[in-house]
Amino acid sequence: MGQKKEFKTEVRQLLNLMIHSLYSNRDIFLRELVANAADAIDKVRFESLTRPELAKKWEIRLAIDKPNKTLTITDNGIGMTEEEVVENVGTIAKSGTKAFLQMLEEKGDKENLPELIGQFGVGFYSAFMVAEKVELTTKKAGSDAPAVRWTSNGEGEYELDSAAKEEPGTEIKLYLKGDAEQYLESWKISGIVKKYSDFIEYPIILPEVKVNDDKTETVTDKVLNSQKAIWLRKPSEITEEEYKSFYSHLSNFGGTDYLKAIHISAEGVSEFKALLFLPKEAPFNLLMPDIQKKGLQLYVKRVFITDECKQLLPDYLRFVCGVVDSNDLPLNVSREILQENPHLAKIEKTVTTKVLSELKKLLETDRESYEKFFKEFGRILKEGLHTDFANAEKLKDLVMYESMNTEAGKMITLDDYVKAMPESQKEIYFITGDKRESVASSPALEYFRSKGYDVLFMTDPIDDWVMQSMFQYQKKNFKSIAKGDFEVEGAAETLKAAQEKFAKLVEFLKTALGDKVSEVRFSARLTDSPCCLITEGNALSPHLERLFKAMHQ
Ligand code: ADP
Repeated sequence: MGQKKEFKTEVRQLLNLMIHSLYSNRDIFLRELVANAADAIDKVRFESLTRPELAKKWEIRLAIDKPNKTLTITDNGIGMTEEEVVENVGTIAKSGTKAFLQMLEEKGDKENLPELIGQFGVGFYSAFMVAEKVELTTKKAGSDAPAVRWTSNGEGEYELDSAAKEEPGTEIKLYLKGDAEQYLESWKISGIVKKYSDFIEYPIILPEVKVNDDKTETVTDKVLNSQKAIWLRKPSEITEEEYKSFYSHLSNFGGTDYLKAIHISAEGVSEFKALLFLPKEAPFNLLMPDIQKKGLQLYVKRVFITDECKQLLPDYLRFVCGVVDSNDLPLNVSREILQENPHLAKIEKTVTTKVLSELKKLLETDRESYEKFFKEFGRILKEGLHTDFANAEKLKDLVMYESMNTEAGKMITLDDYVKAMPESQKEIYFITGDKRESVASSPALEYFRSKGYDVLFMTDPIDDWVMQSMFQYQKKNFKSIAKGDFEVEGAAETLKAAQEKFAKLVEFLKTALGDKVSEVRFSARLTDSPCCLITEGNALSPHLERLFKAMHQ
């Protein structure tokens, strides 16, 4: 061993950035390393449910060495083999690295970057914000693989060596930069742990040295975090700061700002506790498939099982993050068994109902925040209209659209729309298209404007798809105004007469337009424009047709 290897280009760029440009809030490096340590313990603890010989007193230890200017973070978690080290913190750049760099380029704002590091799965590298050299020594638990040491100064290369570590787990030694010596102070380290990692389930220990009267030293272990699972506590006893740091700890979203925390304490048929968060802003990667939201974290009686439990939430609520802690599932539940577990289906039902009712509450009590939320996540929420028929009515109460009568950017609910309908109006009218400007100038609107009827503007790509299964709201039918089967009251006679009187003109237009149209007919729906193009009642809407064309279908 003792081999040198090069970082992949993206990793090198990332490291370069960590070393040279990120100075704000460097404290979070410790949050990231402690989170990795806790994840590693979660993993081995889960293994130990079926291999009891792996069980231990789980802990994360911090050690400060002032003379040598090092800070060490040690866990007795799962550890890594040499291949895993190379894969996880070496040559192979993960999808997150690229996405992170791409965001940097687009945002150009480096101020809040450290906050976002966790979101992209590049937390380990944040060590280089404070360290000029990082030494990671690790031994895989429950395997014969020898211990390995990874060393790097973050400048393009890293070195792999054999190591003499006996105990399974990982030790990360940071040789602090000259301007990062504050991290050698125990008060500073305690403060950061309290702030960001208080709820971590395993004790985070920092030895405390006391000088006795006779000048001898006594070292005692001091546990820095309270280890209280925040989701088990009473909401009234949780501070804003605690919510924020827990929210930022949940791996799939960065930042500390959330819109709403939702506690669930379910009893009876299915017993579980949950703490969920509605996010404020869509994470940068919401629509990127390879780093899409993974699911909720699942615990069973406070033991971590997985952070990718997709069965706990329907897809259209994938912006929700949080923890579910079940009392009913067996502790030795395997990840495969989770696939078809009936308890999970019950939990999903309760969680879905609760999230939808909280959204409704938000809409009713804080419309402004709701609208902001809907602008960020509405198009994901709308998927539910097409996929979750059981909750369709609740979802219809939650969707918002712009309309002919709203200002650009302002939205109304379906309930607002129905309330504003004049008595003569029997149906809910809508038009789909790719943006407000194009639907707002459609001649098809003229008739409705003249009648004083509003028309909903559906300009999300997903709206056409959704409307295939939205038939009614409050017993009123939805009707696309761009479709042909449309009757204007009292116009039938006049139209028939016109059609006969101008038969020659119609014939001429039909011949002239050839296959471009399937029919030419008189219409009562126009008031200012001489003509407009419409589609047949059951044909694809023009917008959907364009979409399909774009997808080469
Ligand atoms: P993330 O934790 O978001 O995946 P990181 O860059 O922080 O991204 O870590 C990369 C990977 O390295 C982790 O997914 C994990 O597999 C491995 N790793 C990091 N720290 C540890 C540790 N203390 N023990 C075991 N594995 C670790």
